[in-house]
Amino acid sequence: MREEKEGMEERKKKIIYVLDASAFVKPEGSRLSEEICVTTHVVMEELKSLQAKITFDIFLKGGMDVLYPDGECMKEVREKVREIGGKLSNADLSVVALALYFKKKGKEVVVVSDDYAVQNLCVSLGLRFRGVGVRGITHSIKWVKKCAHCNIRVDTDENTCPRCGLSDFRWVPAEKNKLRRKN
Ligand SMILES: [Zn+2]
Repeated sequence: MREEKEGMEERKKKIIYVLDASAFVKPEGSRLSEEICVTTHVVMEELKSLQAKITFDIFLKGGMDVLYPDGECMKEVREKVREIGGKLSNADLSVVALALYFKKKGKEVVVVSDDYAVQNLCVSLGLRFRGVGVRGITHSIKWVKKCAHCNIRVDTDENTCPRCGLSDFRWVPAEKNKLRRKN
């Protein structure tokens, strides 16, 4: 019985959890501190609250590694964002790029994030993900950039609207595709 349990834990442990800030900000996140966890320096630098920093230390004591994402994977992730859109911070991109790196190395990897834009990016890159305090997304959303004044669609690379010349944009979901829950 005991051996069986340990065997199961061994298998479970092979999953690498790549954490974004939500794992440290939300109290439910600390449940993962016994697992194999990694995060990035950008995420660490963005943690503001004392509570988040304390939780971060709990993870470090549990053996979490703080890593830099691979340059090539970062590039690939940025290209995917240009394609699908969505508002993503550098911390978000670094987490997804790190997960992509481990996936390419043939590892079992799960991105932990409550951010729908991050989860959506994971879907388009074929990465598994789970939320911390919320349920995962049930739809894959494609975002488009629109001028807040003219309401015309603007290319994601453009910094100004080609019609009015202003740079006041909003991101709106363009289409929804029903997804099957993966985890
Ligand atoms: Zn405009």
